[in-house]
Amino acid sequence: MNIIVQKYGGTSVGSPERIKAVASRIKTNVEKGHSVVVVVSAMGKTTDSLVELVNSITKNPDKREMDMLLSTGEQVSISLLAMALHEIKIDAISYTGSQIKVLTDGNFANAKIVSISTDKIMSSLQQKKVVIVAGFQGIDEEENITTLGRGGSDTSAVALAAVLQSRDCEIYTDVDGVYTADPRIVSEPKKLKEISYDEMLELARLGAKVLHSRSIEFAKKYNVRLHVRSSFNYEEGTIVMPREEMMEKFVISGVTSKKDQAKITIRNIPDRPGIAAEVFHELAENKILVDMIVQSTGHDGKASISFTVLNTDLDKALKVCEDIKTKLKATAVDNKKDIAIVSAVGVGMISSYGVASRMFRILSEHNINIEMISTSEIGISCVIDNLYAELAVKVIHKEFLEE
Ligand code: ASP
Ligand code: MG
Repeated sequence: MNIIVQKYGGTSVGSPERIKAVASRIKTNVEKGHSVVVVVSAMGKTTDSLVELVNSITKNPDKREMDMLLSTGEQVSISLLAMALHEIKIDAISYTGSQIKVLTDGNFANAKIVSISTDKIMSSLQQKKVVIVAGFQGIDEEENITTLGRGGSDTSAVALAAVLQSRDCEIYTDVDGVYTADPRIVSEPKKLKEISYDEMLELARLGAKVLHSRSIEFAKKYNVRLHVRSSFNYEEGTIVMPREEMMEKFVISGVTSKKDQAKITIRNIPDRPGIAAEVFHELAENKILVDMIVQSTGHDGKASISFTVLNTDLDKALKVCEDIKTKLKATAVDNKKDIAIVSAVGVGMISSYGVASRMFRILSEHNINIEMISTSEIGISCVIDNLYAELAVKVIHKEFLEE
């Protein structure tokens, strides 16, 4: 059986007209003889509205009830899509996560998929039905409804492609692929034909908001190719695939920025085993997400550690750091609000020289001061002032990706 798994995001099913358009798109695939499994998100901004509704009732919602509520958006879109298909004489059936036994752990609001049963889906496909599955939701062992984290329908779709052993999964969204930069910042970013899982993960981590990170991890693990494309046209989008299968490997395939971060430096803490572990353990205990970490080389038995957190976590993080300072007899805790992390990502970096120096030079030519640097195998990130985030993205993009 030639199974196609497609996922349509909120904008793609945002209105009755859009739902009808999606239905006719599915019809073309059915007419080509494919068996189609469709995963949908909630219509438009439904999930956001549900969150707002909660805010007007309580500031401290019970997690189980929250997932019970947030999962309802998808139940609306799956059934409407099934009806739209019926209208154009295509047999279709919708299923919630619990009906097809998308088993997850019990971590409400951020549950992980453990297994999915294919029985119902396969028998519906055998009856020549289009199967429509609610994204973003599952059930735990006690049959509580769980959700996979905001944007989680991508992950539902990839997980389904994996269990149905479909090599390809189409992700329909409101952009027509993965671009080398945010078009709101760079006037003519390039659409990539292909990108590797690793680059996509790195880009997601560094601020690009195209795919749910976990969906990329899943795709990589189960070797599912993701085709990110628009439901508003028929153009080819971007294929997210294994590095080895790519035809072209760019030195830089994306430039991103993540604004509204803050930097903290703890000066002169003891330079011995276990200190970094202690510092970041304390921060984690206080549920503070730490992003970039840089430790300076020790001197006289002392070292300094700098790291970034979200602006909104700064006060909480500073409190923790002041306690650490006292405990470890550090000399100071410095901080700076409103910084940005600007990054360049590309697998081609592995085999080319001078990428970092070119990036630093171009920033210096525009008088942008680099406050922290960190690198990975396929990425270089610089911490700079928020004010220059857009400029930095523009000039780095120009240097590496424009003639
Ligand atoms: N409806 C959910 C959300 O808005 C899931 C999704 O869109 O993927 O986060
Ligand atoms: Mg969404």
